[in-house]
Amino acid sequence: MKGFDFEEERIKQEITKLGAKRVLLQLPEGLKPEAPKIAKTIEKTGAIPIISIDPCYGACDLAFCEAEGLDVDLIVHFGHAKMVKHEKVPTIYVEARATAPVEAAILQAIRLLANYTKIGFATSVQHLQTLDEARDILTREGKIVVIGDSGQIAYPGQVSGCNYSNAKSIADDVEAFLFVGGGMFHALGIALSTAKPTVIADPYDNRAFLVNEQAAKILKQRFANIQEAKTAKTFGVVVGLKPGQKHLDTALIVKEKAEKNGKVAYLLAGREIAPEVLLEFPTIVAYVNTACPRISLEATSKFSKPVITVSEFMVVLGEVSWESLLKKGLFEN
Ligand code: SF4
Repeated sequence: MKGFDFEEERIKQEITKLGAKRVLLQLPEGLKPEAPKIAKTIEKTGAIPIISIDPCYGACDLAFCEAEGLDVDLIVHFGHAKMVKHEKVPTIYVEARATAPVEAAILQAIRLLANYTKIGFATSVQHLQTLDEARDILTREGKIVVIGDSGQIAYPGQVSGCNYSNAKSIADDVEAFLFVGGGMFHALGIALSTAKPTVIADPYDNRAFLVNEQAAKILKQRFANIQEAKTAKTFGVVVGLKPGQKHLDTALIVKEKAEKNGKVAYLLAGREIAPEVLLEFPTIVAYVNTACPRISLEATSKFSKPVITVSEFMVVLGEVSWESLLKKGLFEN
């Protein structure tokens, strides 16, 4: 697949260095077509590559159990930067940096940023190497560029699906954000976390657009879900089983709080928290999701019942106001 750096030489070197005999390859959906070619390269080291066909949405989703079941001694995880601190199976990360040129998309974005001078720059791990170029282009066009470094994520300027700490750390110092990357997913996260105008410069489609209208729609849905959950007496508290999504202690606290407030609460655990799975529990009226927050924030219309985050549950209980939740950001539990 053209357009991404799969660092095949580094993978071979790491396998040799670690003496790995069996290697599990984990790629997100868009990158999976590249897996057979990478597997062939790995075979040249003498190791046996096994391609995971399960979905993989983030660096939270490391396949430790699968690796242990297959007697694998190394996981090669593609498309994300390290997130899980304690790895049960040795893991190397291949971030799959994109090679698409970004200048044309950034120049289009600058037109949408005409009314703002102080710009926060953010991007996903695939485009971090464009940071200097983006800063140069923006500066040339008279902008002051601010790049967040909260120390809570792998790189300065980086955002991930559930970590916007870099953007939040500079939100008070900028008038708007520029996100370089494809799709609305990360830029929406920035808009929802900072409430600032957020423009995407998409180097794949060579276009730029604002995402704040879409973010406002999500906020409306979230508010409606909270209101609906306020009427619920029976809750399911969902624990994710993916390593970076497992927050059992939080789930236990949620259950206890629910019961103290006169609700009935059940703990449920699973890897994939999908609408059809939750349909199996007709007596449960609302769910508190302690796993991936994006399931609640963006799949709202797919679920037949409210699936709220832990922070939203605090609003349901009256411990936190909707306004202070918005200020804190929807991604903080
Ligand atoms: S928890 Fe969700 S948003 Fe965060 S890395 Fe995992 S899949 Fe992405």
